[in-house]
Amino acid sequence: MSLKLHVVMHAAGAAFIRQPGCPCVRCAEPVLPEQPSPQDFADLLAWARQAHTSASLVIEEAGVAVDHTLIDCGMGVVDNLAALPTPARYQPIQRVLVTHGHLDHIAGLDPLMYALDMARQAGDYAPEEQPWPLPVWTTRHTWERYIGPNPRDPADGGLLRRAHDRLAFTDITDAALALAAVELHPALLVTPIPAEHLDGGVNFLVEFWPSGDQAQGDPIRIGCCWDLIRYPSGRPKEYWQDVTLDPFNGPLYDQMRDLDLLLIEMTNWRTGKGHITFEPQPAKEAGTPGDYGVRDLIAAWQPQATRLVHYSGWGDRRQPDGSWLRGEACARNVNPATGPVSDRHLRRALRAALGPEVDCDIAQPGMTLTFG
Ligand SMILES: [Zn+2]
Ligand SMILES: [Zn+2]
Repeated sequence: MSLKLHVVMHAAGAAFIRQPGCPCVRCAEPVLPEQPSPQDFADLLAWARQAHTSASLVIEEAGVAVDHTLIDCGMGVVDNLAALPTPARYQPIQRVLVTHGHLDHIAGLDPLMYALDMARQAGDYAPEEQPWPLPVWTTRHTWERYIGPNPRDPADGGLLRRAHDRLAFTDITDAALALAAVELHPALLVTPIPAEHLDGGVNFLVEFWPSGDQAQGDPIRIGCCWDLIRYPSGRPKEYWQDVTLDPFNGPLYDQMRDLDLLLIEMTNWRTGKGHITFEPQPAKEAGTPGDYGVRDLIAAWQPQATRLVHYSGWGDRRQPDGSWLRGEACARNVNPATGPVSDRHLRRALRAALGPEVDCDIAQPGMTLTFG
């Protein structure tokens, strides 16, 4: 048996469509007035809607899609699924893996459930093709706090607590704590990796066997490492207090070295809050080591290819002395996620920093990479 895996980025949009701290129109966060009008709410939503990150993993056997995992479900995913390249187009979704509870990763779940339910009722999918309720795999904290009901107080909980009967929750907390792989399909394993960013958040290591058999041949390995500030390091106030993961040594390093593909975020070149940046950010407390940047992870892990998701540093500008300015010229980057000026600027900086032989580029929305 010979299988292929299509990795499709539905969106790689900026986590922030602004440079934090920049006062220009593009970067200033809308503030709701005390008595907000419907238009005020619409403006706020329009501002937030521009950020979303989600990817599909579609297994193909002899030209036919046989398994479809969605990793995260940001806004706009339903439209993007309809535009997928064949053979992934209009495929049922076997499961949704959720990294964490921010809206750019879960706010598309409601429209997705609606679209799948409509298709199911219309007979577009045979009942056994589209699992229902829709399976959602995430940590218990993310489920109870951000998506479904909190069983201790069902009136409390997340975005979809009133519609949770259309979702089937699978808890991956223990797998994350043990860095243990869970099987999604006989040819596809995923290991949740505790990540500090939002409480309960994880990254994912995906392993795929083109042979269709985990005992035959080496897997294709893909790191889905977006929405991360650092891996748990045992500092006070970190969520994953029971876990310490060093990306340069030990189990995490062993799992992430020599990846076939690293999908990683770098929200800004070197300034950012709650997200990893390209250059390490300065240590916040005296005497503590500075955090690492994406640059250091690429250097240590040596992936075959790296694609950057939700970069929002389009306002970064290199000065003649080589240092970086933030927040400039944002007003000219009306569409910072896809603007060609921004891409060229970032590519040049990446080439200068990593060398021309390192394959590192921006993950464009719609980007499809095929393995096997
Ligand atoms: Zn995000
Ligand atoms: Zn986030």
